[in-house]
Order: sequence, then structure tokens, then C-alpha cells
Amino acid sequence: MARRVRDYSYSELLDRALSKLPVRGGPAKAFKVPKAEVMFVGGRTILLNFKQIVEALNREERVLQQYLVKELGAPAFLNESGQLVFQGRFNVYVLNRLIEIFVNKYVICPTCGSKDTKLLKKGKVFILRCEACGAETSLEAF
Ligand SMILES: [Zn+2]
Repeated sequence: MARRVRDYSYSELLDRALSKLPVRGGPAKAFKVPKAEVMFVGGRTILLNFKQIVEALNREERVLQQYLVKELGAPAFLNESGQLVFQGRFNVYVLNRLIEIFVNKYVICPTCGSKDTKLLKKGKVFILRCEACGAETSLEAF
């Protein structure tokens, strides 16, 4: 029996590999966040689909950027294509894990699990306001 053979791109292979990994529980499981796609150029890591991720999360670019910069301890800038470029090499698994933590903490409403939220900065804290249930959660800012 002939099996159809095709070539998978690196990101497809990565998606397949990641989809086989057990996912820890939590509301983010039902929320489809694009997996990070990265490319290494010299000593830099380029997060190719940063824009797509930010749009899916409905957060401001600079908020996710600041979060990743703080967690990775590395400076980053947006290039002209809207990709996030980090100084240093970072594993795609680390980036996906950080994005997952960000989603659980700064996107998903802890009261009802909705992702329909807004993140507002108030002085030294963030307020996560849920559009679905109206809950307001204060979180440490970064
Ligand atoms: Zn809610």
C-alpha cells in the first residue's frame, strides 16, 4: 500500500511535536494561541509570528514584549516586519512556555475563564477586566 509522502516544514513538525506533549490543565487549553515560530540569526532570536500571537491574545505589542524581555532578561526590539528580535538565542519551547504563562495570568479571566478581557495599567499594578463577567483582577505589573 502506497502511503502519501509529503515534506513537512519545520514549523509543522514543531506543531506536531508540541501537540503530542501533555498540556497542563487550565483554561488556556481551550484557547488557541499560535505557537511561536523562531529563527536564529547570528546571536539573535527572531520571533517571526509575534504579530499573530499578539493579535490572537488581543494584547498590546509592547505589553507582551515587556513581559518576554523581563522573563528572558534580554533586550528585544520590533523589526520593520513586526517581528520581535531578541538579543541572544532562546529555545522555542521556552518562548511557548512563557507565552502560555502570560496567557494564563494576563489574558484569561480567573473568575470565568473567558479570554475576552482588557489589561489596564494602574500605577504599579495591572487590572485584568473581564468583558464577559465583569470581574476585575489586580495583578503585579512588570
Ligand atoms: Zn470573567
